[in-house]
Amino acid sequence: MRILIVEDEPRLARTIADLLREHRYEADIAADGPAGLDGLLTGIYDAAILDVMLPGMDGFEVVRRLRRQGVRTPVLMLTARTGVDDRVLGLDSGADYYLTKPFSNEELLACLRALTRRQGERAENVLTCGDLRLELASCMLVCQSRSVRLSRKEFEILGLLMGQPGRVVSKEQLLLKVWGYESDAEDNNVEVYISFLRKKLSHLGSKVHIRTLRMLGYRLEQEQAG
Ligand code: CA
Repeated sequence: MRILIVEDEPRLARTIADLLREHRYEADIAADGPAGLDGLLTGIYDAAILDVMLPGMDGFEVVRRLRRQGVRTPVLMLTARTGVDDRVLGLDSGADYYLTKPFSNEELLACLRALTRRQGERAENVLTCGDLRLELASCMLVCQSRSVRLSRKEFEILGLLMGQPGRVVSKEQLLLKVWGYESDAEDNNVEVYISFLRKKLSHLGSKVHIRTLRMLGYRLEQEQAG
């Protein structure tokens, strides 16, 4: 399980990272809001620990933008402030849990366990292709021991491709099914999401690739062994 710590106080960030590693989490640190948002948008994290007061962009805004992009990574917000308004604002912006500084190691670990509990549950409905498994209930894409959470649009695009492996799906089909008739999304929206998906496939080390067929669309292909 991989956690991103977004915290601008280097000592606190390191302390949390050490604690998580002791408890067998993988932990990365981002030191400001924009770096945190970029990291989380990759979708490779299973959860985030996010400070509120951050340089560049505050924690509320990071979560708001993350949710707007359809990324549902669980977020634990950290703050020195204790005002009720801040808690409400934090939860309204899309955070899942709220923890006030200073906190004990046990509190932090308990929050993190609660936050990631849902990850352990198996979805019943899955699509598979090669070494990939797409879990429909949780939007998790799994390849052997690794997994990433997909945003809603990534999930729908990959679902369409995995639903008809080997067949070409055109950009027009993707636009229509994922963005809908009324949308003014254009071809390059599709390209952007395809590139997000390719990054995730490569992070997973999958042998399945999304091939671009010029003027036609996209197709899933598997690397041949040997
Ligand atoms: Ca701070």
